[in-house]
Amino acid sequence: MGVPSWKQLDLSKKGAQRSAVTTGSKNKRDEPLFEELDWQSLAVRGGIHRSPEGEHSEPLYTTSSYVFDNAAQAAARFSGDEPGNVYSRYTNPTVRGFEERLAYLEGAEACVATASGMSAILSTCMALLKAGDHVVCSRDVFGTTRTLFAKYLGKFGIEVSFVPLLPVQAWQDALRENTRLLYLETPSNPLCEVADLAAMAEIARGADALLVVDNCFCTPALQQPLALGADVVIHSATKFLDGQGRCVGGAVLGRQELMDEVLGFLRSCGPTMSAFNAWVFLKGLETLALRMEAHSAAALALAEWLEAQPAVEQVFYAGLPAHPGHELAARQQKAFGGVLSFRVHGGQQEAWQVIDGTRLMSLTANLGDAKTTIVHPATTTHSRISPAERLDAGITDNLIRVAVGLESVEDLKQDLARGLAALG
Ligand SMILES: *Cc1c(COP(=O)(O)O)cnc(C)c1O
Repeated sequence: MGVPSWKQLDLSKKGAQRSAVTTGSKNKRDEPLFEELDWQSLAVRGGIHRSPEGEHSEPLYTTSSYVFDNAAQAAARFSGDEPGNVYSRYTNPTVRGFEERLAYLEGAEACVATASGMSAILSTCMALLKAGDHVVCSRDVFGTTRTLFAKYLGKFGIEVSFVPLLPVQAWQDALRENTRLLYLETPSNPLCEVADLAAMAEIARGADALLVVDNCFCTPALQQPLALGADVVIHSATKFLDGQGRCVGGAVLGRQELMDEVLGFLRSCGPTMSAFNAWVFLKGLETLALRMEAHSAAALALAEWLEAQPAVEQVFYAGLPAHPGHELAARQQKAFGGVLSFRVHGGQQEAWQVIDGTRLMSLTANLGDAKTTIVHPATTTHSRISPAERLDAGITDNLIRVAVGLESVEDLKQDLARGLAALG
């Protein structure tokens, strides 16, 4: 007895692998339409698993396990002969709903929700890599991602080379015989550098490696890496997918065969998304495109305004025509996103004065929230890398990052003006 290995489940049908079938049904009225619905309609209606009560809003299934009608059904569920829920470590209808909805939005065959963005990355690596493999990772990734790659993968015999996000040639040069995975974020944090995803996908294909893209900054509302040739998309749902700073969660998306492996890891190791968090994220996806559009418009307005301020040395935002990634981002993304950074004249002291001079923005490293956040990367998010590396990556002591929220642009300008005025 025991839990069957994942391969025993029926994976023959797309999406069948986690068929978290409720005792009721999906919405019979709109399910047949899903193939033809627009992105925004799927953001609102995709992936609802209703109970027989017929809730209009997505139901929240708070249960660790599921009961069976009889012993034969229990056996069939365990063997995978009958699709359905067994235990919420690997299937829960609310979590399944979030996975289906996000899969529609990323244009993915399958999605696996995880407990956090970091566990999405870990699960991907544990599922798709083995000892002796080599990974090429962008130097310009989320700080903890870097720690995961640098400190923990090595323990299991996986070597990692870090390269600058640009130019593409740096990636080509870093390839080895045993390179199995390329990992990057675009646009990068905090300098908004933009990688050419189609070109990166070609390099990965040539090396017989997987291209894994953390799409946290753009979300599928602005960028769909899978359509450009990426193999796997990673999300920290904690950020823009939630959009209001309430829950921690993550997701991995890609081809069914790859996601089966990721789910196998989840099933055995357990970094599962909670049903409550999935419910919050499901609702977040409904307004994702509207929010990303508003974040982007406000960030562009602020970036343009900052460029005109005498105390500002340089602004980094791909929406500005002067940004080296502008044309590529305009082609690859629907808008330029909500994160920008800028350098003030001076050093750390001046940057801190500006930050401490603001009153409205939240001084926190988080992003993807309705509340605008401001942070000094060199002494917070990027403090763990060496000063030399920081400088090489352009994260100077006078750099400030702003993740633009949904307050009024005028109030945000006023707040930054207050900060800049603190320079005296
Ligand atoms: C926050 C973040 C992560 C990690 O996600 P958690 O949900 O905090 O674990 C990964 N990548 C990027 C780009 C992030 O901003």
